[in-house]
Amino acid sequence: MNPVVIVGGGLSGLAAAVHLSSRRIPILLLEQRKFLGGRAYSFVDDSTGTVIDNGQHVLIAGYARTMEFLGTIGTRDRLRVQSAPEFVFHHPRRGFCSFRLPLLPTPLHLLGGIITTDLFSPADKLRLLRAGRALRAFRPEAAGGMTVDAWLDSVGQSAETKRSFWEPLAVAIMNERIAVASALVFIRAIRTAFLSGARGAALAIPTVGLSDLYVEPARAFIERQGGVLRCGADVTGSVVDGENVACVLLKEGEMIPCSALILAVPSYRAASLLPAALRESGYMATAATIPLSPIVSVHLWFEKDVMPQETLGVIGRRVQWVFNRRTIGHENGPENEKRRGGHISAVISAAHAFVEMGNDELTRIVLEDLESIYGPNAGRAKHAVVIREKRATFSCTPEVERIRPRCVTSVPNLFIAGDWTDTGYPATIEGAITSGERCAGRAMALSEGAK
Ligand SMILES: Cc1cc2nc3c(=O)[nH]c(=O)nc-3n(C[C@H](O)[C@H](O)[C@H](O)COP(=O)(O)OP(=O)(O)OC[C@H]3O[C@@H](n4cnc5c(N)ncnc54)[C@H](O)[C@@H]3O)c2cc1C
Repeated sequence: MNPVVIVGGGLSGLAAAVHLSSRRIPILLLEQRKFLGGRAYSFVDDSTGTVIDNGQHVLIAGYARTMEFLGTIGTRDRLRVQSAPEFVFHHPRRGFCSFRLPLLPTPLHLLGGIITTDLFSPADKLRLLRAGRALRAFRPEAAGGMTVDAWLDSVGQSAETKRSFWEPLAVAIMNERIAVASALVFIRAIRTAFLSGARGAALAIPTVGLSDLYVEPARAFIERQGGVLRCGADVTGSVVDGENVACVLLKEGEMIPCSALILAVPSYRAASLLPAALRESGYMATAATIPLSPIVSVHLWFEKDVMPQETLGVIGRRVQWVFNRRTIGHENGPENEKRRGGHISAVISAAHAFVEMGNDELTRIVLEDLESIYGPNAGRAKHAVVIREKRATFSCTPEVERIRPRCVTSVPNLFIAGDWTDTGYPATIEGAITSGERCAGRAMALSEGAK
């Protein structure tokens, strides 16, 4: 029997491969690059010998599919999950403020969190309670076509609640500014975090590099089940014979037969890999026009640890989130004893205005912001690594939300996966894994029907 061919070795492709191979369905995964992981991978920084990610990835405990996936590949314990959700922010006037949700039944946990935080004035706490009520009563048709900003206005949020709470949250979840991000998708994500139980919003942070959390364990799992993964395999198209896709074509001219095809590539590559008939019909013609949003990450090493917190939301500056890589985990083992001092990764999401800047300028901006929070020692780094992901995620605007494709196509054995497809989530690992598993479920149903 020909294998199910999966094109793309990012998390959506790997999730599809894990799902199918765990059910002993033969798969062949083809990845263009020399390594797997797509937009979620880690590598060693030569100067320090530290494993760093291509960008800090954070999950929340409420991401059920991701947690299940990690359970299947055996790395669930490589995530550190907060015992109760807590977000520490630095506010330009109020200083360090915490927003902690007590472990109470929903929505009492939200109520408790809002009442006890020192981040807001009493009037703004009332405004947040109003938004909380709106979230609970939310009906999707009410937000159709709205941006996050318009929705926040419609539920009476002040400029200060937007700046100090909604904007940092939205930019972290959506990788887009509230003025353009889709309210519908944001609200769905927020409901998963804040209304799926008291622990749903707890931050889950990898204690190892992304490749050790997701990629290599997934590869090992797939191979143990008999699946095959090929890197350096650049797919250029697919061919229909009769009703179904019969094979995919590689750049070098090789033709690979398949029983079903899952395209798990980014939005800007998908249309060009479709069979000619679908391409010519204009199906997914708009996919290549989906706007993309960049993320800039700056890793900084210091003589001493300058950051007492593990994570920090930064309000009113250019950096939005800061992570203490030393305390988060994977640099604390005995093998890292020689690497003393501090290591921070700072993130600028929706980095449209920053992504073209030079490394020195970006480093200076981050150091200025850190110094204004932690004092002069945080302004003097001994080493910096700047990572620009220009195409980090699709830009999840209300217009894009309307054109995200479903996983099924008019070709019965062709499925479309990826964080940008119609998952209901923003561009997240949870969305990518959900989409891969959904496609795998469809391909499995086909293969069982054929028996
Ligand atoms: C800096 C950064 C920070 C992020 N932070 C978070 C976060 O905190 N939380 C979160 O949940 N998400 C985060 N994300 C988003 C998350 O990484 C993505 O949603 C997810 O990795 C997307 O997986 P995917 O499989 O859909 O796509 P991709 O990872 O893009 O995988 C697609 C794969 O297809 C391959 N490919 C393309 N064309 C071909 C071809 N012709 N032939 C063969 N292979 C091909 C590509 O090389 C790639 O490996 C972040 C992303 C970035 C970049």
